[in-house]
Amino acid sequence: MENQEKMKLGISSCLLGHKVRYDGGHKYDNWLVETLGEWVDYVPVCPEVGCGLPIPREAMRLVGDPSAPKLLTQKTLIDHTERMKSFCDTTVESLKSKGLCGFVFKSKSPSSGMERVKVYPEKGGAASRNGVGIFANAFLKVNPLLPCEEEGRLHDPMLRENFIERIFIMQRWQNLIADKPTPGKLVEFHTRHKLLLMAHSPVHYKSMGKLVAEAAIKPFADVLDSYFTELMTAAKKTATPSKHQNVLLHILGYFKKELSAFEKSELITLIDNYKAGLVPLIVPITMLNHYVSKYGKAYLAEQHYLKPHPIELKLRNHC
Ligand code: SF4
Repeated sequence: MENQEKMKLGISSCLLGHKVRYDGGHKYDNWLVETLGEWVDYVPVCPEVGCGLPIPREAMRLVGDPSAPKLLTQKTLIDHTERMKSFCDTTVESLKSKGLCGFVFKSKSPSSGMERVKVYPEKGGAASRNGVGIFANAFLKVNPLLPCEEEGRLHDPMLRENFIERIFIMQRWQNLIADKPTPGKLVEFHTRHKLLLMAHSPVHYKSMGKLVAEAAIKPFADVLDSYFTELMTAAKKTATPSKHQNVLLHILGYFKKELSAFEKSELITLIDNYKAGLVPLIVPITMLNHYVSKYGKAYLAEQHYLKPHPIELKLRNHC
């Protein structure tokens, strides 16, 4: 990783500790700043300040139809919807050119929340929790395949690992595209992601294999588009303990000749213990990585599944 350029990640500014909230405060997120921040360059966006509102300012809420809500100040009922929409039009477009690998949104905000944001009825009454912040909504519509998450959900170890895997996949994809891709380079990219794909979606693993096999005989631009859609759709699917177990046993199959019966049964026990929630995933992975380097298994050594992100992020330490 040392020589690799840091990826760019969009983020709601207040999560970095910027004092941009309506009350002049922030929502500093320790893990995002101090741990993930070592590996990414953040591109901060505060839509409310960006659209010209002051700090501090009156708090706002979404009101009306959840599919097209208005952004109103809570007490004085000033309508900032159009001001926010025009900020979104210019900013979402300009963010496209920055080559973001993902975005972390501040949850619950009427501007930045990605899901379950409160929407109040026009005539008063209880809020429903089915809204999307106006900026988040505009961003997600233009970037449907980009890895996006809210900071609160990233406290869940599985969701966090899934998001981090996806942003690193996105970075590798952007590098491939920047490197004038050819059918051969796509095959290489796919080969290195095979086990990762198998862990997320065996169905996509098969269909993407077919797609790559046809790369030399179909319009390559179309193949790249379809592959990217399948790649990001597959990566978003949860890599469950059962799917991991299948992949780990598949890897074990590469050591039929080298490992003794005792070593194999030791590994199978570790994999079973992982599946049963008794040991974290990193335990069988570490053991397999040890055998990969000991026996010089080139195909496995290249697999992103075995080293999907920097070890310092400690993402495979959950059961
Ligand atoms: S939640 Fe969004 S709009 Fe609100 S302060 Fe944070 S970045 Fe700004």
